[in-house]
This record gives sequence, C-alpha cells and structure tokens, in this order.
Amino acid sequence: LIEAPLVVVTNREPYVDERSNNGIRTIQKAGGVVSALDPLLQDIGGHWIAWGSGSADIEVSPGGKRQVPPEHPRYTLHRIMLNQEEIQGYYAKYSNQGLWPLSHMLIERAQFSRRAWQIYRNVNQKFAKRVSAVSPEGAWVFSHDYQLSLLPAFVRKSRPDVAIAHFWHIPWPPLTIFRLCPQHQEILRGLLGADVLGFQSELDVDNFLNAVERTLKVPVDRDTGMVTWQDRHVHVKSFPISVDFAAIQQLVETPRIRRWVRGIRRHIEHRDQILGISVDRADYTKGLLPRLDAIKEFYSLYPQYRERVTYLQVVVPSRTEVAEYRRFYDRVAKKTQEVNQLFATSSWTPIITLPHSIDRPRLMGLFRAADFAVVSSLVDGMNLVAKEFVAAQVDKRGVLLLSETTGAANELENEAFPINPLDPEGFANTLHEALSISADERAARISTMRAHLMKHTIYDWMEDIFLTLKMAAQSYV
Ligand code: UDP
Repeated sequence: LIEAPLVVVTNREPYVDERSNNGIRTIQKAGGVVSALDPLLQDIGGHWIAWGSGSADIEVSPGGKRQVPPEHPRYTLHRIMLNQEEIQGYYAKYSNQGLWPLSHMLIERAQFSRRAWQIYRNVNQKFAKRVSAVSPEGAWVFSHDYQLSLLPAFVRKSRPDVAIAHFWHIPWPPLTIFRLCPQHQEILRGLLGADVLGFQSELDVDNFLNAVERTLKVPVDRDTGMVTWQDRHVHVKSFPISVDFAAIQQLVETPRIRRWVRGIRRHIEHRDQILGISVDRADYTKGLLPRLDAIKEFYSLYPQYRERVTYLQVVVPSRTEVAEYRRFYDRVAKKTQEVNQLFATSSWTPIITLPHSIDRPRLMGLFRAADFAVVSSLVDGMNLVAKEFVAAQVDKRGVLLLSETTGAANELENEAFPINPLDPEGFANTLHEALSISADERAARISTMRAHLMKHTIYDWMEDIFLTLKMAAQSYV
C-alpha cells in the first residue's frame, strides 16, 4: 500500500528519553497513533518528526536524531527541541488554551494572543523545515492534529514533490465558533496545503467545508469533499480513528491479566457488588464534574444501589503546565469527596479514584473486569476509551454508557446507552436502565459493538488514509 518513503509528524514523540536516578530510561508512548504507526515504520523504515520533550532527549540525540527503537533501530526519530518560551506559546497557550477549547466549543475558555500566535507559527515553521529537509523525493508526509495546522502549507511551499495527509483528531466546530479564532483564515490556509485532510466524523467535515467555502470563498464539491485550492485538489474526508482490537483482546487473555481480572471479579461477586469504571485525562472536555452530579443523583434516586455499585474513576493528571488544568484537577478531587461524604458507609466507599495513569495491560484488565463503563465527555473528537472498553470485554458482561456528543457515538450509539452529559437525572435513569437489562441482552449489545470494531480497527483507519493519499498523489503527477 505504501508506495513512497514515509514521514510521520506529530507533536508528541513515540519514544521519550527521561533522566532518572538510575540513568536514562527510554519510554515508549502507547497512544493510538503510535501503536499503529510505530510498527509500520519499524517494518518499512522512514522518519518520525516530533517535539523532543523528554528530559534526556537532547543528550541522546546527536544532531536532533535518534535511531529507534533503541534496542534494534529501524527508523529515525527527529526531535525538534523547544525552549521554554516556545513550549508556552506554541503548546500551552495557542494550542491548549486557544485551539483546544475553541474546537471543543467551550468558547469562554478560549484565549488567543498575537504573541502566542507568532510563536505557534514559528514552531510550525520549525517542524516544517525539518520535514522538508529529511523527506526523500516524492515522500508521503502524514502529519497530525491542531498543534501543527500550519505545517502542510509550509511544507508544500518548499517541497511541492511530497504528498501530504493531515489528520485533525479533535472536533471541528461550526463556523460561528471557529471564526472567533483571530487567525482562522491562516489556519484554513495552512491545512489546505495538504492533499488529504482527515477528520473524525462527517459533521466535522461539514463544518470544515463550510468554513472554507464561507471564509476563503473557494469552490467546494460537497458530494466528493473536494476543495479546489491554488490549482490543486484537497480531499476532505472523515476517517473515524479506532483501536487495535486484536492486540487488546490478546492483552486481556494473557495469564497475568486473566489472574488479575479473576481476583477483582471474586472480590466483587463475593460482596454482590457492581463495578463501574471511567478513564479520562483530567480535562474539562471530559465532563468529569457533571458526571459526579449524575452519580450523586443516581444514589439519591435509586438508594437500592448504595453499598452495591462502586464506581472507579481513573483520573490522569494532564497538561499540568497550564494552571487551569491544575485547578480543574483539584475541583474534581473536592467534588468526589463531597459525593463520598454523602453516601459512604463504614464498609463502603461509592467512588474510588485512581489519580494517576495505569499501565496498558492493567487498564485493559479493568475494562474486562467492569460491569459498566461511563464515557460522558461534553464534546470529544472520538474517545478511544469507549472503543477500548468494548474490545476488552471478552466475557461480554459489561454495558457502555456513552455521551451522544462523542465521535464514538456515531458508531456505537445503537448498542451503547446514550447519555446527555448535562442531564444528571436522565443520566441516573439511564444507568439504572442499563443495570437492569438481562445478561443475554448485555452480551448481545456488546457482541454487536465488538463485531463492528473488529472490522474497523486502527489499521483500517490508517489504510483508508493512505489509500486516499495514494489516489490524491496520483491525480496530480
Ligand atoms: N490511557 C492510558 N493510561 C491511563 C489512562 C488512559 O494509556 O492511565 C489511554 C487510554 O487507554 C486511551 C487514551 O489514553 O487510549 C485516551 O484517549 P481518548 O481518545 O479517550 O482521549 P484523549 O485523552 O485522547 O482526549
């Protein structure tokens, strides 16, 4: 399928070198994109360009380069080193306090400044320069997300020979919201430097095409999603991202995780308990605070579940360089405590918080062991946790409560229990309903979702994007 040298560009790097007391440790990051693209690059070789964010990244990367994986190098990781001012302007401010909240339609949280914009632009240029410098003739560049929106046009300018696919992982807001970004036109122009632009859903594609049509006044073919821009065609399409279904299934079937899950289940069943789980970064888009209101409502409206339903929330600290995120984390902890104080008994605590990240095998084990999972994002591009829960549910016992405003709901809402994250009573009623269905119905629902995800994995996502890029690249040679 891949017919040209491959160059991947992301904000976060697939391997991070961290200094610890015992020397330098290389940590492999396990996000969705890394889990799909790292094996591919290991197989065919190529380049990966990313911000070198680890504390020991510089010293192990002569000339900004590191051959990875370190133990048997297969491809080149190029690290873009950023100083404090760049990290603040590009990452913490423009990306995470500007584009992130605006794209999630949380207008009041969005802050933009000309200074941060300049830095964001310069850093995008820095990434683009490196891409242009290392890309072999006719390479395929696969770049990612809102941190790098200007990169496609920068690369196109200096390297018209390469083909570029850019994937936007978060929602694309309606035009009335998007135009609040003072640099919205520049961002559109930056993205349109790509040959293929991917989004999570049809709705995102629609919103993007509206913005292009209305603000740049260029023709858009709605049937094919084709934009004609500077004598080129840009293919705009939805490619819902997914998970490595088989790998998750394998992981939860390893003897260690099976034993662990059995232990958890014995504990739960012995006490006639029901175990619920949620896993999120501590981010206001994930709806953690309204969810706690809903849980409170649930125990109030349905006291029969007190001392029976235990809800485990994994809350992973995130973007702690942004003060707002630190404050948010504290508010979640405080609210959790309030709900616990209302309902806890001498032998039971309603909400247990794990305030840190969990390694992947155990996380998938928890998904396997749980009776229900709750995903209640206010707005979410996809939400991979929802899909991982389904993939890990090999015993087919669990139910999924899924916010209607996630990308995942486009695919799973018929079998998941849809919830409105801002309707605590409705949420509580739905949880009661979900816990009341028969074991057969639970198995039927989860099986249908599993069948869907088995056919739509992260590899299918990647293949669709590359197929589209191949078509696009052929059409302009
Ligand atoms: N995750 C993890 N360890 C944790 C908590 C979460 O590896 O302790 C992973 C989780 O399995 C999922 C990702 O982080 O793959 C979160 O992706 P999602 O799309 O749900 O939300 P995002 O954080 O990208 O907004």
